[in-house]
Amino acid sequence: MELETAEPYYLPVANEVAVFRAAYRQGLPIMLKGPTGCGKTRFVEAMAHRLGRPLVTVACHDDLTAADLVGRYLLRGGETEWVDGPLTRAVREGALCYLDEVVEARQDTTVVLHPLADHRRQLPIERLGITLDAKPEFGLVVSYNPGYQSVLKDLKDSTRQRMVAISFDYPEPETEKSIIVAESGVDPGRAAELVRLGQAIRRLDTGALREVASTRVLIATARLITEGLPVREAAHAAVAGPLTDDPLTARGLRELIEAYVSELAP
Ligand code: ADP
Repeated sequence: MELETAEPYYLPVANEVAVFRAAYRQGLPIMLKGPTGCGKTRFVEAMAHRLGRPLVTVACHDDLTAADLVGRYLLRGGETEWVDGPLTRAVREGALCYLDEVVEARQDTTVVLHPLADHRRQLPIERLGITLDAKPEFGLVVSYNPGYQSVLKDLKDSTRQRMVAISFDYPEPETEKSIIVAESGVDPGRAAELVRLGQAIRRLDTGALREVASTRVLIATARLITEGLPVREAAHAAVAGPLTDDPLTARGLRELIEAYVSELAP
């Protein structure tokens, strides 16, 4: 029995829904670009739901091999048995396959993406000696953070240019406030204060931070606040701690937190 799941909450920030829908209908792969924690994963979850397709998500990492994506022979009860990897499953089932942070994957994994990402829409499975045609409903979505070294740079330009890019950034203040309220239940005044803190951190251009404060860390702060934690302690724990290990930078963030959030109800 298939369970009806609720549509994931997603507040559009620009024209991304229309672009995604159009690209998907045309069988074009999609790359979501943007910093961590700005809503890319949530967006794909919402789109899979809206399009009525299963979603297969792969969190890419530097040990991820082509076999992890495509499949391998496993020993089961003395017999070797072929087991499809997540990409192969998605190709066969006509699911959306989301390769999160594809930049992290090893270079050889991108090779299997080439024929899938261009007009062929095929997945060669060398070990089986076959080439699968992707179901028409199959959709390839990759995300990457342009701030990091990108393996996408190693994808052939011809492949890259067959992808449709959707750029993400942190949402506008009003949108971000609504997202924080919806995701944490914190009151709107407090959410607005956290948005201003986030913006102040995003304006810092010290080079000391690899990543600035994402919507995700602001939501985490708000959630700690709803648990009754003092506001500044919540911000230290959910914003300053995750963003830096450097004592000097941490002190700077503490000062910003003290300047932007108050213990009193806003
Ligand atoms: P990314 O994949 O870009 O790293 P996520 O999709 O995991 O980021 O977003 C982090 C969190 O921020 C989500 O769990 C969600 O709570 C929230 N979020 C960010 N943007 C949105 C949005 N536009 N609508 C709803 N929630 C959002």
